[in-house]
Amino acid sequence: MVKDKLKKQYTKLDKKSIEQLIIILKNYYSDAKCSLDFNSPFELVCALILAAQCTDERVNKVIPVLFNKFADVYEIANASIEEIANIVKPCGFYNNKAISISESAKTVVNVFNGKVPDTMEDLCKLKGIGRKSANIILQECFNNTVGIAVDTHVTRLSRKMGISNAPTQEKIEKELMSKVDKKYWNKINHIFVYHGRAICIARKPNCNDCPINKICAKNE
Ligand code: SF4
Repeated sequence: MVKDKLKKQYTKLDKKSIEQLIIILKNYYSDAKCSLDFNSPFELVCALILAAQCTDERVNKVIPVLFNKFADVYEIANASIEEIANIVKPCGFYNNKAISISESAKTVVNVFNGKVPDTMEDLCKLKGIGRKSANIILQECFNNTVGIAVDTHVTRLSRKMGISNAPTQEKIEKELMSKVDKKYWNKINHIFVYHGRAICIARKPNCNDCPINKICAKNE
């Protein structure tokens, strides 16, 4: 006997519904902002490297320790991997993260005269920095929005809501950019992160209390 399992079809929202949904969430989370603390572009580079599979709260505790020990990008570029790893240990994957921080610092010092670059292309030359992090650095440090920072929250919520079920973060970013007015691009990541933490929780979305429950496609 053949067991037929019908795969539930993915429901996509139209452009107008997506815009409505973004506007509602933007108003609902009107104070949404980057939850990583930083005092300079290079501190944000380090914070984003450390934030991989680690909570922002923990990163926010480690960054001040790192920059109390090393005053700036030059001192980090001269530090040993072990010295950096000892400090960033609480963030997990500390050897790899220490290598990325050290390599990024060396690139900033040797290639960009000690200044974190301000273009997508150059930011992606820093070890441990991809499009998602580069988008955040451009928006937060240079007030320049060229794309949408797609992380795990944006990926999951975009799929769930019916905005995009594209297979990669880059393709989801492209689809979002084609469907959402540019004036909202710099808000998407923050409002989706807030919504994913507060209401559309991965294991148990609270659809009853969700401000967009009449629009959301509620895909599985
Ligand atoms: S909580 Fe429910 S209605 Fe709200 S975004 Fe998530 S799946 Fe959609």
